[in-house]
Amino acid sequence: MTHQVQTSTESVSDSGSSRPLVIAIDGPSGSGKSSTARGVAERLGLAFLDTGAMYRAVTWLALQEGVDLDDRAAVAELLAHASIRVDMDPRRPAISINGVDVSEAIRAPEVSAAVSAIATNLDVRADLVARQKKLIADAAQGIVAEGRDITTVVAPDAGVRRVAGC
Ligand code: C5P
Repeated sequence: MTHQVQTSTESVSDSGSSRPLVIAIDGPSGSGKSSTARGVAERLGLAFLDTGAMYRAVTWLALQEGVDLDDRAAVAELLAHASIRVDMDPRRPAISINGVDVSEAIRAPEVSAAVSAIATNLDVRADLVARQKKLIADAAQGIVAEGRDITTVVAPDAGVRRVAGC
């Protein structure tokens, strides 16, 4: 399967504006949006934000701490006091939560199986969306961000918005 994002040279300079370029890519699960976003970021020398990794990191932490994933307030409270560090270099993206590098651990089947309970927690979503907006705003060199709500909620005014697989 090939995943193409049409990115014109004009888009790279965000239509001549001095604002750093933001490319937002969403699409359904399995659409290849993560590898597409990462590849585009690498080619254009931009940062790369995998928002799904953040939902996975919170899931990992809740499982690690034995917090009931269906207890929405408890999970939101856990996240409110958590530090999340995202390394947005597309050549070696990484994520740490409370100082623990969970880049590999978040891909474990138990995290994948549990993440939807976290992703449907509206308090968690509000917290992570705020963190994602800040990461995007702070990416001085520009950024490619991907996730199912990126073009609609997190970065609706991105210079380039695409739906992967379409
Ligand atoms: O993209 P990935 O499969 O790693 O994302 C893990 C899960 O996190 C998704 O299945 C989805 O439930 C949730 N998610 C989300 N909003 C995002 C990114 C991911 O709800 N922006």
